[in-house]
Amino acid sequence: MIVTMSTNASQAEISAVVGEVENQGLKAHLIRGTERTVIVVVGEAGRLQGDVIRVMPGVFDTAPIVRPYKLASRDVNPQGSVVHVGGVAIGGPALTIIAGPCSVESRQQMMETAHAIQEAGGQMLRGGAYKPRSSPYSFQGMGEAGLELLAEARAETGLPVVTEVMAPEQVALVVRYADMLQIGARNMQNYNLLNAVGESQHPVLLKRGMSATLEELLMSAEYILSHGNRRVAVCERGIRTFETITRNTTDINAIPVLKSLTHLPVLLDPSHSTGQRTYVAAIARAAVAAGADGLIIEVHPDPDRALSDGGQSLRPEQFFELVQQARRLAAVLGRS
Ligand code: PEP
Ligand code: MN
Repeated sequence: MIVTMSTNASQAEISAVVGEVENQGLKAHLIRGTERTVIVVVGEAGRLQGDVIRVMPGVFDTAPIVRPYKLASRDVNPQGSVVHVGGVAIGGPALTIIAGPCSVESRQQMMETAHAIQEAGGQMLRGGAYKPRSSPYSFQGMGEAGLELLAEARAETGLPVVTEVMAPEQVALVVRYADMLQIGARNMQNYNLLNAVGESQHPVLLKRGMSATLEELLMSAEYILSHGNRRVAVCERGIRTFETITRNTTDINAIPVLKSLTHLPVLLDPSHSTGQRTYVAAIARAAVAAGADGLIIEVHPDPDRALSDGGQSLRPEQFFELVQQARRLAAVLGRS
């Protein structure tokens, strides 16, 4: 249930509502807007005695949240949320472009890529230090040495960094280096990991599982949000279909559908959704047209020698061109 407090509700009235919610064995999440405070009540269905809360002093209105995800629901913040990562805003009027190699491979590769991304106008840097590979014999990532290189690249360019965390016990370490934690497609329903990144209070980029429904994606976001971590963005990265020419099938529907269902920013990863460099720019443009808040794109200075996902990685000059196109398109659509 969403409890909307009156504009002039006192702190004591707000606290009384929170106290009543907790008395009922439920949890109250406070969202302080510029005008009103909203209290989102979550917990086991059946416990809630809404009638008691509805008549409390300072309560303006109460409304049920009919969807199974509550804190992720658009009802909670119809204007949409902005997630701040370093100095970068994800969500809101501006299109956010995140780019970098699939894997961190060396200092030279990282510095060269980071500079190219910055010069092209990319706002955040990506790169995996812990890689979820389909084969145990493939490159598994540089681990902490890779995190150090990401932090070095940030120090040199000022670009905030996002990197994948694969296990709950890695969260504390990755938080020390990264500005945003990526939960990969394969871990979208790793609930222990979702709980751990929720506890961290660090910004999270949550990718859709390759066979997950949009409702399952939002339920996973709900796990993170339920720990009080509000800084979550969700990312479509292609789903498994019967088509085999492309690595995955971009579910372009996911963008407007997610935008209508959730207040969380919505990104698209055209690199993994297509799996081939030649299609990345077209699908990135489609995502901007469909209303995505941002893009996350793989870029490598020498894709033919990349240790992972070289075939879908753009060369720096291709990325430069794509950023120009995406920004022009965003401007036509009234975005900044
Ligand atoms: C990645 O971003 O490199 C990655 C492994 O993505 P996904 O989890 O979407 O496959
Ligand atoms: Mn990759």
